[in-house]
Amino acid sequence: MHSSTKFLTGHGAALSGVIVDGGSFDWEGSPRAYPGLTAPVAPGKPSYAQAYGKRALEAYMRFGIVNDLGAALSPVNSFLLQQGIETLSLRMRQHLANADAIARWLAEHPVVESVDYAGLPSSPYHRIAQERFGGHAGSVFAFTVRGGRAGAERFFDALQLISRMTNIGDVRSMALHPATTTHVSFSAAERERLGITDGLIRLSVGIETVDDLIADLDRALQAAAR
Ligand SMILES: *Cc1c(COP(=O)(O)O)cnc(C)c1O
Repeated sequence: MHSSTKFLTGHGAALSGVIVDGGSFDWEGSPRAYPGLTAPVAPGKPSYAQAYGKRALEAYMRFGIVNDLGAALSPVNSFLLQQGIETLSLRMRQHLANADAIARWLAEHPVVESVDYAGLPSSPYHRIAQERFGGHAGSVFAFTVRGGRAGAERFFDALQLISRMTNIGDVRSMALHPATTTHVSFSAAERERLGITDGLIRLSVGIETVDDLIADLDRALQAAAR
């Protein structure tokens, strides 16, 4: 299952998802029950697994889920997704180049405590990014600003170009403060265990001109230091 809401659509304009199935899973032989695929669809009728074999999941999705329950993508959202996919390779090149330049710049900044980005040689995940992703480390990563929560607050208040937004994989750059948003319901001890400190800031780096993004980050980091 893949969320096509993010980079595939690319513009934060539509929600959608993709299911990819190789047809090799043994639904009937599995120790876990999948009655939707293995039980008769009606008394005396074969199950999806019996009727469709390798294409059982696809048939179940098409006829059992989309047809009967209506979980179909709207035409406009389908259009947005398809149009987004046409520029995916171009956008990803810019996302990756911008993220790499910004991570390296942040790592040298005096107001930044640390940067969690697998593209940096100092990252414990650097070797994995090299081996599995051709050295590319995506454009979503986090860094820690000095000054804890107060520093993070001043940083966010000073941003002008980068949006304060929860989404990721959008062409626009976005920043989020996990400790007070996505992970606010976690206890302080649990956040600590997960490495979600009060100064942690998550970035989803977009495709804007990188100098403009760095200027915005620099202004916000200078505000954080005050
Ligand atoms: C990813 C995301 C969603 C959900 O989209 P999915 O297609 O389920 O991944 C919803 N809201 C926000 C802010 C998101 O970033």
